[in-house]
Amino acid sequence: MTEKFNSLSIDNTFNSQKSKSISLRSSTAAERIRQLEKLQDWIKSHLEDIRKGIFADFKKPYPEIDASEIFVVTSEIKHAIKNIESWMKPTKVSTPLPMLGSNSHIQYEPKGTTLIIAPWNYPFNLAIGPLVSALAAGCTAIIKPSEMTPHTSALIKRMIEEVFEPELVAVFEGEVEVAQHLLSKPFDHIFFTGSPAVGKIVMKAAAENLTSVTLELGGKSPAIIDSHVDIQDAASKIVWGKYVNCGQTCIAPDYLLVQENIKNELIEAIQVKIKEMYDPKNKGISQSKDYARIVNDRHLKRMKNLLQDATLKGAKAVIGGEILEAENYFEPTVLTEVSDKMDVMEEEIFGPILPIMTYTNTTEAIQYINNKPKPLALYIFSNSEEVANTILIQTSSGGAVVNDCVVHFLQNELPFGGVNNSGIGKAHGHFGFLAFSNEKAVLEQRVGFIPSKSLYPPYNFIGKKIS
Ligand code: NAD
Repeated sequence: MTEKFNSLSIDNTFNSQKSKSISLRSSTAAERIRQLEKLQDWIKSHLEDIRKGIFADFKKPYPEIDASEIFVVTSEIKHAIKNIESWMKPTKVSTPLPMLGSNSHIQYEPKGTTLIIAPWNYPFNLAIGPLVSALAAGCTAIIKPSEMTPHTSALIKRMIEEVFEPELVAVFEGEVEVAQHLLSKPFDHIFFTGSPAVGKIVMKAAAENLTSVTLELGGKSPAIIDSHVDIQDAASKIVWGKYVNCGQTCIAPDYLLVQENIKNELIEAIQVKIKEMYDPKNKGISQSKDYARIVNDRHLKRMKNLLQDATLKGAKAVIGGEILEAENYFEPTVLTEVSDKMDVMEEEIFGPILPIMTYTNTTEAIQYINNKPKPLALYIFSNSEEVANTILIQTSSGGAVVNDCVVHFLQNELPFGGVNNSGIGKAHGHFGFLAFSNEKAVLEQRVGFIPSKSLYPPYNFIGKKIS
């Protein structure tokens, strides 16, 4: 496909979606539900195709595909279908005394044409989840899946072409130049999921058209392990949250801040849990069907460099460290003796390396986090409500979980997203609907009624008190 052909086809689709978006303003809840049902039906009748596509990209285990790619999307669809009618209902607001006689409400109009740019790590979920919100809100959408997961990208294209007319939803596959051409179009909203670095590029491009954005970004999400904790419970949850999808999860605990006096016990527990989850039959983790692979050579090299840089600067790999290049295998790895001078504490790891840092008191842990960009997620493992509340109040993060990790992504009633460096705007359920809606302020005045004649000239209130 030449770039010229590509851009022409993008332009034509964009124009047809522009016209469609105007007619969609008056779409009913039933019509939007119908579109979502069509999507739901396709997914349910092509489960094996979806699993095969995602597995082909980076050997993501089928149960992980079912839970984190398919179920997440189908539950988002179900939730939207159940709630669209109430989400669309205008919200009445009260009338202040000086405006007595008027009525006001907020009307949720579709933003219009929207662009969804998706990453590779949950390639189905993070392209189709936002689409559910766009359709629920009555928008058109163009999806640009990640080029790093080509099998899933092709599957998404096929699905969208079989389910929707291109003037409602279309897919353009490709690399950066496709994304850049799309970003030059005056969309009404852009929903981007990816790295903070590309998020800045997207926001700059959106500024040219004053397009609103939702930026679902990444960063380093810490887990604080207070000494008042059930160590076995914490270790299980951390191992699952860190190594699911081979650590390539935006909300994986990036590093641990562990209270010094429980460090050794926690490391031992983590080692046991890794074995229990990924090597119960003692065949080696590389033989496990339940452990995914690094997405490509480039990212494997990045992980190798992170490990090398850390060990050269004095870190110790107390667990793991094995790499099988031929199959992009990187063993679950835990590092101690880490410092801020290491790349592993500078960049988002986005892979199966877990650095452990220690602290002596909660204030120290809070200060450490507050000296870094605000994370997408913050995890607190503690039996002490006081410790958990202190950390919750004194830190800022997109989301937070007490005594677990990652699972807040599945809670449709919560807003999902970051803050500043980890993102702008929120997704999921009602918050996703709102991201794709313009909350239009509507005031209805009675004909022949003027709330206060003093609003009109000639003015006579100079010198009067403002209360
Ligand atoms: P990425 O930013 O490299 O790419 C994301 C998308 O942007 C891809 O479709 C890519 O083609 C496109 N893109 C890349 N360069 C571009 C450019 N210069 N101009 C326009 N578009 C461009 O991210 P990734 O490597 O696919 O995903 C990993 C990152 O995404 C991590 O930082 C991770 O934390 C983050 N992430 C965040 C969430 C979330 O929900 N907040 C979820 C998953 C991943």
